[in-house]
Amino acid sequence: MNNHLNRKESLCIQNSSNCIGCGLCPKVFGKSCHMELGTDGTYKIKFNGDIDESLFREICPVANNRYISSDIWGNINNAYFSNAKDPAIRFKGSSGGVTSALAVFLLEEKEVDGVIQVCADTDSPIKNIVKISRSAEEVLNCCGSRYSPVSVFDGIIDELKPDETYCLIGKPCDIRAFKNYMRMFPKHSLNIKYTLSFFCAGVPSANATKEVLKKLGVDEKDVVGFDYRGNGWPGYTQAVCSDGSKKTMEYNESWGAILGRNLHSACKFCVDGVGVAADISNGDAWFADEKGYPTFTEADGRNITLIRSSIGQELFNKAVEKGYIECSAVENCESILEKMQPYQYKRKALMYTKILMLRMFGKYTPQYDSTLKKWDKKIPFKDKFIYAKGTVDRILKKKIK
Ligand SMILES: Cc1cc2nc3c(=O)[nH]c(=O)nc-3n(C[C@H](O)[C@H](O)[C@H](O)COP(=O)(O)OP(=O)(O)OC[C@H]3O[C@@H](n4cnc5c(N)ncnc54)[C@H](O)[C@@H]3O)c2cc1C
Repeated sequence: MNNHLNRKESLCIQNSSNCIGCGLCPKVFGKSCHMELGTDGTYKIKFNGDIDESLFREICPVANNRYISSDIWGNINNAYFSNAKDPAIRFKGSSGGVTSALAVFLLEEKEVDGVIQVCADTDSPIKNIVKISRSAEEVLNCCGSRYSPVSVFDGIIDELKPDETYCLIGKPCDIRAFKNYMRMFPKHSLNIKYTLSFFCAGVPSANATKEVLKKLGVDEKDVVGFDYRGNGWPGYTQAVCSDGSKKTMEYNESWGAILGRNLHSACKFCVDGVGVAADISNGDAWFADEKGYPTFTEADGRNITLIRSSIGQELFNKAVEKGYIECSAVENCESILEKMQPYQYKRKALMYTKILMLRMFGKYTPQYDSTLKKWDKKIPFKDKFIYAKGTVDRILKKKIK
């Protein structure tokens, strides 16, 4: 799918809430713009001068979704249930620590010089930074999901050295932004040999983390460490205070009641939550109840790993061979994913219904091509009807503006 937005819509991204905040624009358009953390707790681009709009439409990962495939789960060479073999990585990792285990393998086997990744800012642990990890220890410090915004490309591209090679770990939109950039500026070869992504239901506002702290009864100034999950699977959301005390909340509560209810508005229209453009994408391989749906019961971490390219397959095979990862192949992957990751399945399959309802009420929607209709055919009419009714109810109650 290639959902280039029209001019009006791309201006809508430049000037309004649809900028996902990847941070590419300052690199590409220089002083004409800068990233800003808005009062709504999301990073947005602010333009102070004119830019080349057609270039903008090419590089923006929201405006240019050319990597979205017509298949709901994207291209899958092979799929595995997997986990990091190192128990410390498996424990600390968001799911089974496979993303971090791959990064450690790449560094220890000298396949790359650095891993570009996101982690907590040590000076202000509820904020995120982007860094280049060069050792297993540094990768371990970045383990886990950060459910708050970060402008991945704002600044980091200038830190890359032309004689070094890298692995990039990012959300699906980060990987798309990077690939868009590389397509438009191939001579600025960044030597990023591998791209690793993960399933993403959307990025919560930074304000949602503050709400979690409030619920935990913790003052932001007292926080010396903050994990959204991990240290088990799914583990707990945990704030560590300056006096050494720890306040925790179940992941189900922090994501279900707070973080997941405060997602970036562009994420609500995202049709790639499964990292289709990356070499490898990892998600939670939740264990299932008798109907096959996720239980979220605490267990040893487990990923579902989707291999999306031959480079990804080679990397994964070597990491398994060298003992960094243990895995078992998954047959009938699509039907397993449908139940294991129902949100990811439905957000795509029901996007057509959502767009129809919003347009009926004159609301903003991005411009998509006919791929949405193909996905729409996978969903029974009854489910579409229930979803359409829910969307209309939310519009009438002004929950959708
Ligand atoms: C915003 C968000 C939404 C998510 N939604 C889903 C979902 O819908 N379904 C699902 O199965 N899993 C979701 N996850 C969790 C993630 O997909 C799983 O943790 C995945 O299985 C990777 O697990 P792992 O143990 O291999 O990762 P780890 O080994 O713990 O590595 C995680 C990697 O992600 C990087 N990272 C963390 N936060 C960010 C961020 N905000 N931006 C860029 N990079 C980051 C870290 O630097 C680290 O390299 C989400 C995570 C995030 C950050």
